[in-house]
Amino acid sequence: MQALTKRARTVNKKPMTLMERLYLPSIAKGMAITFSHIFKKQPTIRYPEQKRPFSPVFRGLHVLNRDAEGRENCTACGLCAVACPAEAITMEAAERLPGEENKYREEKYAAKYEINMLRCIFCGLCEEACPKDAIYLSETFTPASFTRESFIYGKKDLLIPDPNTDPEGYEKARGERQPTTANPN
Ligand code: SF4
Ligand code: SF4
Repeated sequence: MQALTKRARTVNKKPMTLMERLYLPSIAKGMAITFSHIFKKQPTIRYPEQKRPFSPVFRGLHVLNRDAEGRENCTACGLCAVACPAEAITMEAAERLPGEENKYREEKYAAKYEINMLRCIFCGLCEEACPKDAIYLSETFTPASFTRESFIYGKKDLLIPDPNTDPEGYEKARGERQPTTANPN
């Protein structure tokens, strides 16, 4: 039968010599290869002490955004839920009451907002669909867990810290990523 490649080798069937039967040269050769790797640069990193820099287009855990005054941007329009190919987003809208202008930027807000991270494929379409810069995918991983329920992220898990009460947490949550929407109003 004709070989598909030229990589075929003929097997040498001649009996082993005494030195070959002792295996010592082969063991020494193997140890030399092993020791030579001690002085090579390690390709692995010691996570979590060491972390690789993220790609500029990395899409991690979602963040529900606030404006600089600490008001929630989301107006519960539902565009992110419609754009989501995994049907991972659900929400319930509510009317802003008089006196709540400092909490919600728009007259309507998301009283309940949930993302099922087990369904999410981190495509970023929700971020692109949002006309209010209210949601973006951050540089944070979704933490591992042992229960399915813990992967349903509600508002308390998604909402960015209030810049008025926790400016450090707000800046940290924002990270280097900027929302992609061109129209923030
Ligand atoms: S990143 Fe994609 S899959 Fe995940 S919630 Fe947003 S639109 Fe849905
Ligand atoms: S996150 Fe954006 S697209 Fe989704 S409901 Fe809120 S305002 Fe609308």
